[in-house]
Amino acid sequence: MQFTLGQFEQGRTTILPVFVGQSLDAFGLKSKDYYGKKKDHPVFADHAGTRFILVGLGEPSKFKVNKLREALALGARAAVKEGETAVTVVLPLAADVQLSVADVVFVGVESYLMGEYRYDRYKSNKEELTVKSVVLASFGDDLTDQADAVKKGEAYAQGNIIARDLMNAPSNKLKPFGLADFVTQQFAGTKAQVEVLKGDDLEAHRFVGLQAVGKGSVHPPAMIKVTYQGDASKQHVALVGKGMTFDTGGISLKIARDISDMRMDMGGAAAVIGALHILVALDAPVNVTMLVPTAESMPDGNAFLPGDVLEYPNGKTVHVGNTDAEGRLILADALLWSKELGAETVVDIATLTGACMMALGKKIAGLWGDDAAVSGLVESSKLIGEYVWPMPELEEYQDLFYSPFADLRNITETPGAITAAMFLRHFVAETQNWAHLDIAGTMMYNKVSAYGNEGGTGFGARLLADWVIGQ
Ligand SMILES: [Zn+2]
Repeated sequence: MQFTLGQFEQGRTTILPVFVGQSLDAFGLKSKDYYGKKKDHPVFADHAGTRFILVGLGEPSKFKVNKLREALALGARAAVKEGETAVTVVLPLAADVQLSVADVVFVGVESYLMGEYRYDRYKSNKEELTVKSVVLASFGDDLTDQADAVKKGEAYAQGNIIARDLMNAPSNKLKPFGLADFVTQQFAGTKAQVEVLKGDDLEAHRFVGLQAVGKGSVHPPAMIKVTYQGDASKQHVALVGKGMTFDTGGISLKIARDISDMRMDMGGAAAVIGALHILVALDAPVNVTMLVPTAESMPDGNAFLPGDVLEYPNGKTVHVGNTDAEGRLILADALLWSKELGAETVVDIATLTGACMMALGKKIAGLWGDDAAVSGLVESSKLIGEYVWPMPELEEYQDLFYSPFADLRNITETPGAITAAMFLRHFVAETQNWAHLDIAGTMMYNKVSAYGNEGGTGFGARLLADWVIGQ
C-alpha cells in the first residue's frame, strides 16, 4: 500500500468522513444528516464522475478520536468490497477534531490499514486487497510536511496487525517454540537482540512458574527476551507479556462449551511483540527489554497439580490452589527477571482474569500499579483509543491469599482481577515503577467490527509503544 500526501481530485473514488450537519458543498453533494450518523456502514454517493464513500463521524460535540478511526477503517473495507484500486481519503480538519495535523495524518493512515485487516490464512477463498494507492487530502490543513506521520501510522498499524495475526493463529500452528521462532525471525537484521531460553536454561534461571505450568505439555515452555537499545541512556523499561499459546486450565480443566478462544491466551505476548515492532520500525530512541514467558497448559501425567508449592527465587512460596490461575505464575518469573536485568520500570500485560471482563466489559482494560506508570498509560490511551481504567489494590485483601502451607495462594475468592494484580505485586521490586494491564475483556471482537471480522484485537501493542516513546 502506497500512501501519498496530495489533493482531492474529481473522478477518483473518495472516502469522506462527515459530521452530522457538515456542509458538503465543496464536493457538490447535498448535505444529509444521516451521512454523519451512519456508524456501522458507509453510504455511497456519486457526483460529477466521482464516487464518494461517506462515513459518519457523528455529532461534532460528541467526537472522539476512535470515531475517526472507525469511520476510516469502514471506508477502507468498503473500498476493497467495491474493488477499487486507488482512492482518496479526505481527512477532517485538525481544528474540527481537536488534534494536531500530524496526529490526523497518523490516525488516518493507521486506521485505514487496520480496517483492511483480515485473517484468511486458512480460508480457501481469500478476498484480494485491491487498493494499492491512497492519496491523503485535506481542505484547509497543509499536509506537505507530514511524511513522518505517515510512517508512524504505518508502523503502528503493522504493530497491531502482527499482534492480531499472532492472536488469531490457531494453537496447532503456534506452540511456545513457534512463538519464539516468530520473534527471532521478526527481529532478525534489526537493532533488537533476541534470546530464547529453553530446557535447562529455565532451571538455571529458576523460572519455577514457567517450568511448572509447561510441564504437562509435549510442547515445552520457553522464555523469550528481546532487548532494543535505541538510546541506552534512556530509562530501562521492561515489557512483559503473558504467552500461553493454549490454556486448557491444566488439571483444573476449563469446562466451558467452547474454549477455542484460549488460543488467544497469548494476547499479552502478542501486544508486547507488536509494540516492539513499532519501536524498532520507528528507530525510537528508547531502552526496552521485552520478556515473554510462553507455555501450553495441558492436563497430563506430568502436569503440575493443585496443592503443589512453587518456591520463587525472591523467597516467596506459592501454593497452587488452581492450575487455571497459571498466568500469574509465569508472569512472576518474568517480573523477577526484569529486576535482575536492571529494568527501572516494568509493565506487564496479560489476558488474566474473567473477573476483569465482568468489571469493565470488552472495551476497557483494567490497569493497576504505581502512579507514574499508570498515569502515563492513561495519557497514551487518549490518542491511541485503547481504553484503560485505573483500578485499586487494597491492603485488607492480602488476607485472601492465605494458605495453610505457603506464603501465598494463586487463587482467591472475589475480587479476582484485583487480587491477580496484587499477587503480581509480590514479584515486583519496591524500587521498580510497575503497571499491570488485564486484557482478558479486550482481547477479542466477538462480531464483525470496523477493524475486521471476529477475532483478536491486538489490544495493547499501539498503547504500549506510544507510552514507551513518551517516557
Ligand atoms: Zn488459566
